Amino acid sequence: MSHLELQRRGILCVVSGPSGSGKTTLCRRFSGEDSSAVYATSATTRALREGEKDGEDYFFLSREDFESRATRGEFLEYAEVHGNLYGTLKSEVLTHINAGRDVLMDIDVQGAALIRKNPDPAIAEALVDIFILLPGEEELLNRLAVRGTETDDQVELRLQNAREEMRHWSDYHYTVISADKETDFATFSAIITGERCRSNRLAPSQETVAKHSELGL
Ligand code: 5GP
Repeated sequence: MSHLELQRRGILCVVSGPSGSGKTTLCRRFSGEDSSAVYATSATTRALREGEKDGEDYFFLSREDFESRATRGEFLEYAEVHGNLYGTLKSEVLTHINAGRDVLMDIDVQGAALIRKNPDPAIAEALVDIFILLPGEEELLNRLAVRGTETDDQVELRLQNAREEMRHWSDYHYTVISADKETDFATFSAIITGERCRSNRLAPSQETVAKHSELGL
């Protein structure tokens, strides 16, 4: 039998979890260490926090700019979270998936629900959704307090939202019960590795198809 070269379609990895679950770190670290994976930078109307860079952490937009882009259909999904708009630009996702690169995105439960409902079969096939769950209320409080970048009111709002978000863990195909950074990263990487091996993500490369038809195979 002649050698068959297989090409893989990219995964769209949607990661949600409450504030402090480490979901952004997991996505950023994985895409930083793995050359086939990219992080989809979101757009938001929230103010830039100290240490954040426009275009790296987020594309920071005015509400007006965000809304006009939404009207023009530039977002794959968007939602209001903690009083601000957050959205994933189509341009950050579709070209990568089509080129066989995996896209990691850290979005809230509303955004994940919108992606699940997306009518494009390419999105449905690419989708891998993962929830990062904190083992209990105490851990949630600890992790929110550790961050220290928010005022008490913001922490209270995030706590309420976190409790609400946690209720949605079973909507996701995978749930990682957060332990420590290294264990979480190993589990997260294992899920992506497994998903990459699914046969339905593989197809003979264009070269293989051309060679086989030349040889009349
Ligand atoms: P933060 O302001 O702490 O960076 O993010 C707040 C929340 O917004 C997090 O739950 C995060 O997952 C969510 N988020 C970030 N980007 C997006 C996005 O593009 N779409 C949606 N729906 N949520 C997002």
